[in-house]
Amino acid sequence: MIGIYPGSFDPVTNGHMDIIERSSRMVDKLVVAVLCNRAKKPTFSYEERVRILKQCTAHLGNVEVETFDGLTVDFARRKGAHMIIRGLRAISDFENEFSMASMNKQLADDIETMFLMTNTQWSYLSSSMVREIAAYDGDIEPFVPAALAPQIKKALRASLQEEK
Ligand code: ADP
Repeated sequence: MIGIYPGSFDPVTNGHMDIIERSSRMVDKLVVAVLCNRAKKPTFSYEERVRILKQCTAHLGNVEVETFDGLTVDFARRKGAHMIIRGLRAISDFENEFSMASMNKQLADDIETMFLMTNTQWSYLSSSMVREIAAYDGDIEPFVPAALAPQIKKALRASLQEEK
């Protein structure tokens, strides 16, 4: 069984890592898929996000990291995956995830979306919150993979400087 875990990961948080670690135990191979076709300009480049994700999943033997654009179900098919993994935080995630999963089921009946409930410890955590904390020079270390916190902070600072 091959699963894909698509997302923006801009940047990866401990909430994402929890979903990656738990779902990697449920499939033979997990492909973490960094979505490239967002209209909004991301803070981290695709290359940076892939590099960071590869580093923080290096201890997981069955996890690969790739970028993709286009439809998630098309990418899943290219990878031979029959499972899309998504994480669910509070109720606010539900509506969007519900319509996306329903649409993907219409597009590809052979691919299932599997939801993992967030670890309550990370139920409030999002990439945008991490970006905001960094913007105000707060400590992001508790919210991102510890070994990569300095690297993530540096990249966030650099992108904020660019915006100014
Ligand atoms: P997207 O922009 O597609 O929502 P994200 O990278 O923000 O991409 O999230 C990818 C997936 O991970 C989504 O299913 C999202 O709900 C889930 N996710 C994000 N943060 C958390 C968290 N703290 N706990 C559990 N799941 C999460």
